[in-house]
Amino acid sequence: MTPHAPRPALRPLDEALAELLSHAKALPGTEHVSTFDADGRVLAQDLVSALQVPPQDNSSMDGYALRCADAAQPGALLPVLQRIPAGGVAHALVPGSAARIFTGAPIPPGADAVVMQEDCELVAGDPAQVRVLKAPPAGQWIRRAGEDIQRGATVLQQGQRLSPAALGLAASIGLAQLPVAPRPKVALFSTGDELVMPGQVPPERMLPGSIYNSNRFFLRALLARLGCTVTDLGIVPDDRQATIAALQSAAQHHDLIVTSGGVSVGEEDHIKPAVQALGELSLWQIAMKPGKPFAYGCIDTPDAPCHFIGLPGNPVSSFVTFVLLVRPFVLSLQGATDTAMQSIAARADFTWARADKRREFLRVRRNAAGGLDLFENQSSGVLTSTVWADGLVDNPAGQTIARGDEVRFVGLGALIG
Ligand code: AMP
Ligand code: MG
Repeated sequence: MTPHAPRPALRPLDEALAELLSHAKALPGTEHVSTFDADGRVLAQDLVSALQVPPQDNSSMDGYALRCADAAQPGALLPVLQRIPAGGVAHALVPGSAARIFTGAPIPPGADAVVMQEDCELVAGDPAQVRVLKAPPAGQWIRRAGEDIQRGATVLQQGQRLSPAALGLAASIGLAQLPVAPRPKVALFSTGDELVMPGQVPPERMLPGSIYNSNRFFLRALLARLGCTVTDLGIVPDDRQATIAALQSAAQHHDLIVTSGGVSVGEEDHIKPAVQALGELSLWQIAMKPGKPFAYGCIDTPDAPCHFIGLPGNPVSSFVTFVLLVRPFVLSLQGATDTAMQSIAARADFTWARADKRREFLRVRRNAAGGLDLFENQSSGVLTSTVWADGLVDNPAGQTIARGDEVRFVGLGALIG
């Protein structure tokens, strides 16, 4: 009998992540895409404003623009000599008069305050007059030119990921197109002879030992949300030659290959020797739970080497290692500067008595009382937990949790898009 290989030392997550990211050099090139289509993309250049926003002083209320000096006493009566809608042109205010004005309209030169219409009475006549019931302070209801953005200001920075709000901000300085990093080309495949595709066999005819391929669905969706172009290569059987062939062909046309399953060190785990045959592999057993088996490597090609990441097969392990490791990796390939996982202090409304040797990421959900509830089954095969949860508790190795303890909460919302 051949002895099993000795167990490799587990790598701390932070160390593994730092090493992983040291390989994730930004892909070359810049694309110019319509601002409409840039959601989720990473900016390839700083965006500098060629104008000030707002472009001129304007009203933040529907009402009357006037000079404070003309309405220093409550009840002042002023003739209304112009009407300025949003998009209209303002003429200099005649001293002693008021201008009817609407939200967003330019403040007429000479006016130094706006009185909202609710604080006025209109007196019919030719011209109509306005009675100003309350004396306004200088500057009231005026939005100042440039109070949002100064001309020459950098409004968004290279490496920033574009959110819907950022698209609006870019549009507010007149940009119809944005320079963004190219999409990483990612090949995805699942390994496992037990895997069956939904639709291929109906539930009542599933053979014993078969399971549906769930990882393929969430990995593909997660990659797409992160701006990747995904080539889905389906299921590769647990076979050395088939695995080598799949990796070799995918490496020619992609920046990264992501696989799930087969990355442990059993006889049916072919990923490790296959990557070693084609390039270099650093197989990491990471000191985290779920998600111990994880591999990074490179596959040689005639051009640039193709990155390789092997995720564990257990669905929850696959999901958690994706959000904590693959996500920052693919964002870094796009030059993103802020990929670090953020955690906040939160109160545990549960107990966790089983301290583990590994750093754990427990599936939890915020409750209305401001605390965290724990999903009852924390097994790495229970995918239900990842749908139920809105976050993970980052629990240090060797730590139990008592009800009321302060823990570190990592929101999943920010990690899945
Ligand atoms: P492995 O990492 O290949 O040893 O797989 C570990 C566990 O995850 C096994 O129980 C597999 O059946 C399961 N598994 C592997 N790949 C998938 C997948 N794509 N979808 C659902 N479960 C999977
Ligand atoms: Mg397997």
